[in-house]
Amino acid sequence: MEENVINEMQKEAQNNGYFGIYGGQYIDEELKTEFNNIYSKFLELKNDESFQKELMDLLQHFSCRPTPVYFAKNLSEKSGCNIYLKREDLNHTGAHKINHCLGEALLAKKIGKKKVIAETGAGQHGVAMATAAALLGLECDIYMGEVDIQKAMPNVYRMKILGANIISVRHGQMTLKEAVDAAFEAYLNEYETALYAIGSVVGPHPFPSIVEYFQSVIGKESREQFINMTGGLPDCVIACVGGGSNSIGMFDGFIDDKEVKIYGVEPLGKGEKIGENAASLTYGREGVIHGFKCLLLQNEDNTVADAYSVASGLDYPGVGPKHCYLKDIGRVEYKTINDDEAIDAFYELSRTEGIIPALESSHAVAYGLKIAKENKGKKILISLSGRGDKDIEFVLKHYPREI
Ligand SMILES: *Cc1c(COP(=O)(O)O)cnc(C)c1O
Repeated sequence: MEENVINEMQKEAQNNGYFGIYGGQYIDEELKTEFNNIYSKFLELKNDESFQKELMDLLQHFSCRPTPVYFAKNLSEKSGCNIYLKREDLNHTGAHKINHCLGEALLAKKIGKKKVIAETGAGQHGVAMATAAALLGLECDIYMGEVDIQKAMPNVYRMKILGANIISVRHGQMTLKEAVDAAFEAYLNEYETALYAIGSVVGPHPFPSIVEYFQSVIGKESREQFINMTGGLPDCVIACVGGGSNSIGMFDGFIDDKEVKIYGVEPLGKGEKIGENAASLTYGREGVIHGFKCLLLQNEDNTVADAYSVASGLDYPGVGPKHCYLKDIGRVEYKTINDDEAIDAFYELSRTEGIIPALESSHAVAYGLKIAKENKGKKILISLSGRGDKDIEFVLKHYPREI
């Protein structure tokens, strides 16, 4: 991609957070002022050496960064390609989410906030946020749908042990979308003392840009590690896309390398019909959700559709605005993987490499194995966004596989 396109993108990010026609701030004026204040403070801190150092220190010593790029030898031999995994699953708390949670919590602390407020679906973002808040001495309110609370009890226990306050949301579907609504509403009354710490590269400007910045460490490390290991760049880079944070963080490292093909993988769930999947970039139409514009899964009457995937970290009806833009300009190709293919990849990686992946990450692995078949000899780098410990009970119950 041309250098001027990249510059243009950066300019657009600063232009009230628009990426092409996507992003922006569809919120009331009072919050706009507050969010713009947060953004200028963030930009200041981003360029402040002591903030950088403190963040680096946390990532290194608390979360075990840099996470390795691992050459998956057995899988490579089996598939006829060279498959490399960026091991975000080895982060403390088991996924990439801690990268932006540490960033957001440190940001909150530096700008004088006492509390972080967050939403969570399956509890992964909630646990990472509660962890960062405990470490940095912040109060932590987590909004979670009652249905999700019942489904993800172990994560609820973790958050409680870490000292977070869980607020059950009991309207509508009682899942992630309502939890975000409730967290936003609460934030309106508390923004002077609290920071809203969103779980992905979604929401109104400046959240997509802030979360992207904190996740870009994935791509930055990966590019350097890959060159050190192989003497060159990968032929293609793959990551799963829920809200889009691990993927955008990975893609940022390679977006200027025109020769590297980039694939984002969305969940096709049970099928192509609206309601059966969570593939917003593939089946969505332009729309507004949670204060920003994106490709959005919608019913015929333009209401927000239910999103579904076997991987609960991927079932959001919207998607980060920059992904929508990258799709429009053709720099990233977005593909889909269904539930069954993801489960196959879950078992394949577990039994071939001894690594149990998160069901979310299994989507990226599944697509990697798919292109390996058609592109023998290529070097494929996959973002392994998280580990599968959280999924083992569910998989054995619903998708048991005897040896
Ligand atoms: C939450 C989650 C995702 C999806 O979120 P993104 O913002 O799209 O990265 C993917 N993988 C894991 C392991 C997760 O916990």
